[in-house]
Amino acid sequence: MSHRLLTGKVVIATHNQGKLREMRELMKPYGIALVSAGELGLPEPVEDGHMFAENAAIKAVAAAKASGLPALSDDSGICIDALDGAPGLFSANWAGPGKDFAPALARVQSELARRGAIAPEKRRAHFVSALVIAWPDGHQELFEGRVFGEIVQAPQGTGGFGYDPIFRPDGHDKTFGEMTSEEKHGIPADGSPGLSHRARAFHDLARACLRAAP
Ligand code: IMP
Repeated sequence: MSHRLLTGKVVIATHNQGKLREMRELMKPYGIALVSAGELGLPEPVEDGHMFAENAAIKAVAAAKASGLPALSDDSGICIDALDGAPGLFSANWAGPGKDFAPALARVQSELARRGAIAPEKRRAHFVSALVIAWPDGHQELFEGRVFGEIVQAPQGTGGFGYDPIFRPDGHDKTFGEMTSEEKHGIPADGSPGLSHRARAFHDLARACLRAAP
């Protein structure tokens, strides 16, 4: 399948500061001028899709139409096996309108406890990131990444954002909240995929649609 190269100025179609920071860091080696949906004063569209990819497309298409520029969006969330995949698409909603994650993290713990999911093997979870680039002419590209791990017993670390302090990826002894941004979503110099869901989706996006700045 042939992909379209992303060039010129690009809108990062998110109002989430944590995601915006990570996406700016991931895009840095490509020398592309970036502007966020917030900086352009674009409204946040209603995310009423039934899949991460659908919601990512809703955000990217809305930003591309409103700005006349290619737009890159991320729809993501954490899916917890013992909670039948919740909070999933509703990961941001669990933090409420104030986007306060302390109650969301506490809710994860209480729902797991209510279901007797105390042992690590009962606390399996994964993050998903769907990245969509939409161009004003309607062309779209989709890339998805996942990272598997477990929900720890109590928040650890203050780095990252959202659910980072309670998610420990497989093969690591630290939560995302205890990792540096380089550890969480840096793309290794050998070209292998990074660790986080977003880094993994971005690894494929970069190979398909970006060329390193000279
Ligand atoms: P949305 O994609 O804007 O609907 O929001 C995704 C939500 O998922 C965020 O607000 C976070 O709560 C959560 N999330 C997505 N990616 C991450 C991550 O890398 N770390 C922690 N939480 C995340």
